[in-house]
Amino acid sequence: MTLVVENAHVVTMDAAGSEHTRGHVVVEGNRITAVGSGAAPATDGARRVDGNGCLLTPGLVNTHHHLYQWTTRGHAVDGTLFEWLTTLYPVWGHLDEDIVRTSATGALGRLARTGCTTSTDHHYVFPRDGGDLLGAEIEAARTVGLRFHPTRGSMDLGASSGGLPPDHVVEDLDSILTETEKAIDQHHDASFGSMLRIGVAPCSPFSVTGELLVQAAELARRRGVRLHTHLCETLDEEDYCREHFGSTPVEYMESLGWLGPDVWFAHAVHLDDAAIETLARTGTGAAHCPSSNARLGAGIARARDMRDAGIAVGLGVDGAASNEASSMLEEVRHAALFARARGGPRELSVRDALRMGTTGGAAVLGRQREVGSLEPGRLADLALWRLDTLAHVDIADPVAALVLGSPPPLELLLVDGAPVVEQDRLVTVDEQDVAAEVLRASTRLLERAGR
Ligand SMILES: [Zn+2]
Repeated sequence: MTLVVENAHVVTMDAAGSEHTRGHVVVEGNRITAVGSGAAPATDGARRVDGNGCLLTPGLVNTHHHLYQWTTRGHAVDGTLFEWLTTLYPVWGHLDEDIVRTSATGALGRLARTGCTTSTDHHYVFPRDGGDLLGAEIEAARTVGLRFHPTRGSMDLGASSGGLPPDHVVEDLDSILTETEKAIDQHHDASFGSMLRIGVAPCSPFSVTGELLVQAAELARRRGVRLHTHLCETLDEEDYCREHFGSTPVEYMESLGWLGPDVWFAHAVHLDDAAIETLARTGTGAAHCPSSNARLGAGIARARDMRDAGIAVGLGVDGAASNEASSMLEEVRHAALFARARGGPRELSVRDALRMGTTGGAAVLGRQREVGSLEPGRLADLALWRLDTLAHVDIADPVAALVLGSPPPLELLLVDGAPVVEQDRLVTVDEQDVAAEVLRASTRLLERAGR
């Protein structure tokens, strides 16, 4: 299929920051073949989309999520991270494959509606007899139509061994490694244009053993997949690391071989200058999750300092239980606003915030030659936002309208050249049906947990 978008303000997010006030993008199959100013070159039989009054951007890249949490939103709303986790672990202990499939469909559907075309997931709760939870979320991503980077997470440090999670939601080290490698064998596609890549992701320093971290890194490097975990999210975590390992979280991860261009950490809120220098020197990436960090009162990551140091920084919604909105566009907005609340109006421009949500995320996932910018040869992952309604019509700069205004209607979202959203509606699934299923799954899960 050939598709042409014309007359839109095109923000390419290419290295030069090119924008075209009345520009076009041509998509053939799953690739972008032309980008420029003015009318598109003649293309026989193409579907033509009039982008008049619209802004065309690359699709947004979500670098941290826990899709299963879509059915456990709105709990422990005033808790700290550790209080919130200990409230929810017992509920998550009752997850099964049907609940995960429904949660993932709901979460990915909402992400698509907010401009997201590529999403990661970090799934680390595998109750015994829960079924094929990773397979269930992969099926959901295929149904919704997003490019997907699920990571096989894990926890092996239960409460009886000094960890935070209750013993019944942790697995043993050998089965974690076996299942993780099986997931890579079964699902990982390393090819250009891949719709699915697996990562390896033990949960956090306070829920896994050092031995698991070491062996997980060995496995990921042997198989050529990426490594991911939570790090430096709260001061409680830093206290935990100092008490248990006698070092900061970043020093601890370095001692286990967990830094490098194939690693990205979620949050990275509490970094001192030395930690920023270490991440930059080793090429380690970060997923900045401003809304979740604010919801849990964890703090505001030093996004500007990390970017200035040359660290690849992407944005993430984080799990829906600590970010009930789970809107990718809102993360772009919050990244800009929180950075300025912290460091003044020049701390982060609206274009740099959008860059974190696009090329930044692509770099974190090692896919900067495939997605994150609108350039010939890149994959056709793009978002067309309607800016001619009351909410945005007079905002002078279209990028400021997108980043600082309220979320605009999404006229079109293409993933790999295929429409996922049209005229602000999902076209791959029925949103009302998904909502009804989510409510049923959430009710079932809470009943099982005796809530
Ligand atoms: Zn998380």
